[in-house]
Amino acid sequence: MKKTMRRLLCLVLCAAMALSAVACGSAPSSSASSAAGVFTPGTYSSTQTGMHELTVTVTVDANAITDIQVEHQETEGVGAPIAESLPAQIMELQGLGIDAVAGATITSNAILEGVTDCLKQAGASDETIAAWQAKSPEVVKEEDAEYTTDVLVIGAGGAGMAAAVTANQAGKNVIVVEKTGAMGGNTILSGGAMNAVDDGSEVAAEHEDSVALHIQQTYEGGDEQGDLELVTILCEQAWDGVEWMKELGMEFTGVVFTVTGGLWPRAQQPADPEGTGFFKTYQNYLDNNEGITMLYNTTANELLVDENGAVTGVKCTGATGNTVTVTATNGVVLATGGLARNVEMRVAANEETKLWPTLDESIPSTNASGITGDGIVMAEAVGANLVQMGNIQLLPLGDPETGSLSGNIEHSVESRIFVNEQGERFVNEGGRRDEMTLALFEQTNTTMFIIMDSDTYPTGDELNNFGETINDLVAAGRAYKADTLEELAEQIGVPADALVATVEEYNRYCKGGDLEGQTDSFGRTLFSDVEGVNDGINDGPFYAAERVPTVHHTMGGVQIDTECHVINTDGEIIPGLFAAGEVTGGIHGTNRLGGNALTDTVVFGRIAGTSASEYTR
Ligand code: ADP
Repeated sequence: MKKTMRRLLCLVLCAAMALSAVACGSAPSSSASSAAGVFTPGTYSSTQTGMHELTVTVTVDANAITDIQVEHQETEGVGAPIAESLPAQIMELQGLGIDAVAGATITSNAILEGVTDCLKQAGASDETIAAWQAKSPEVVKEEDAEYTTDVLVIGAGGAGMAAAVTANQAGKNVIVVEKTGAMGGNTILSGGAMNAVDDGSEVAAEHEDSVALHIQQTYEGGDEQGDLELVTILCEQAWDGVEWMKELGMEFTGVVFTVTGGLWPRAQQPADPEGTGFFKTYQNYLDNNEGITMLYNTTANELLVDENGAVTGVKCTGATGNTVTVTATNGVVLATGGLARNVEMRVAANEETKLWPTLDESIPSTNASGITGDGIVMAEAVGANLVQMGNIQLLPLGDPETGSLSGNIEHSVESRIFVNEQGERFVNEGGRRDEMTLALFEQTNTTMFIIMDSDTYPTGDELNNFGETINDLVAAGRAYKADTLEELAEQIGVPADALVATVEEYNRYCKGGDLEGQTDSFGRTLFSDVEGVNDGINDGPFYAAERVPTVHHTMGGVQIDTECHVINTDGEIIPGLFAAGEVTGGIHGTNRLGGNALTDTVVFGRIAGTSASEYTR
């Protein structure tokens, strides 16, 4: 939804300029303005939805943009740098034909749309807008380049960076090729929850948790389709992974919570929002250690194979369209993530299992735009076996406009319910992600509201897991707040009596905060947190946020063994090729537990980094 906002600055200018009859923020006919110029001079604002809400303010004279300001809360390391650099590029070019920045297309497009909207407000005709959109920067193709390194990593998301740092710690020079202009991938867009059990610790005892339970829930939660050996490694090495991240300087809050679809309170909470803490940590390592070279805006296209069938490197397209070839004397680690943003591939994969009614373009995704299955295609071309491609995870938690996880107000499973447009619960909100999302597909308009009270947000200034305060989300119209449930129901358009009855019934299950073994009619067992703070939904103000299904994680991909070797269709190791993270398949089965993806990146990223360092041709 696009909202046009005239800002205070504009009003002040309007007042000052009223006598000279200069329009401000109005849209006079283009013919009227074209004689003197193409724009009506003034300052104009437009509010758009990027990863978060952002406001673009553009000042124009008769023919040019003289200033662009962007107010934003975009993710550090993803959208935020674009919100700084793109306005300068538009100003310099005096044109809008700038490609959205790979990896930050949502932010880029929101800014480009905001500027376009401002120009329209300034009276630009359709022809003027078309001319501005057609004006693109001239790209000068650089010379082709060739590099040699010890270990090559393809993809700078969570798994790739864990592999790169591990290989460097083993004394190797590393080159990382990354399609976008920054590290982070999908990992940086996640809520940051990392499942890990410190077996035998007090915290584990307090939550009645163990590595054995983590293994069991991961395996059974994926309908026993995951590889039990890989599941065991994932869970057994998870805590080591947390300790390793801490040694590298990453901060965790010490809070252990149940992330949606995590089934148990074992998610470690990073101190920084989303996945930013992981990449601050990896960047900090890069800043303080030599030997890792990042080749950004470099897209890997083809794995290179020698006469013995060993993978030796990769051929890429550089930022200016030149060819960049990287050869490794040790191993090559594929860490290009999944395929959620490749609609054709996900539709074809869903045909295999028919897990979902549809995965066509009508279903948004939480993923960064570069997550298009490139690594899976490249690996298949050198003989890799692809496993369980039809296992695709959707979340019931997408932003209704962008599909992203931002604007998600929930903190932990125990403190919220989901209701449909009838104001009724429809699923066990503490259950599996696939079951919750399939149930959501059955609801009117495939939409739902998260409902919670102020236990999580006593003042409204506390942050959600995506770095947003609930007060800001309410102000932006992305969440709702009311003193009573009746008022909340009115705001979100559900029957008030139904919502009140739903919450009253739910609260009966929560009463006392300790109903061990008791389940409600949907089979929910997770009601209150261990301190008994979330004692039901009964402390106003009450909050709601609308959410829709969104494609989140693809559990199918390249088959690996316990050392992250890629396996070919004959069941043999492909020499020199290793893989980790979402590009791999067969670990999580039909349904990945919430909080296990970041664990996967760290645990298998480290293993792949070690294996690639030890490999020689
Ligand atoms: P994981 O969680 O498995 O680490 P992420 O989604 O976090 O996966 O990261 C995958 C990274 O790989 C992203 O940064 C993405 O831009 C990058 N990537 C994807 N395809 C290519 C490609 N063809 N060449 C280089 N980098 C790629």
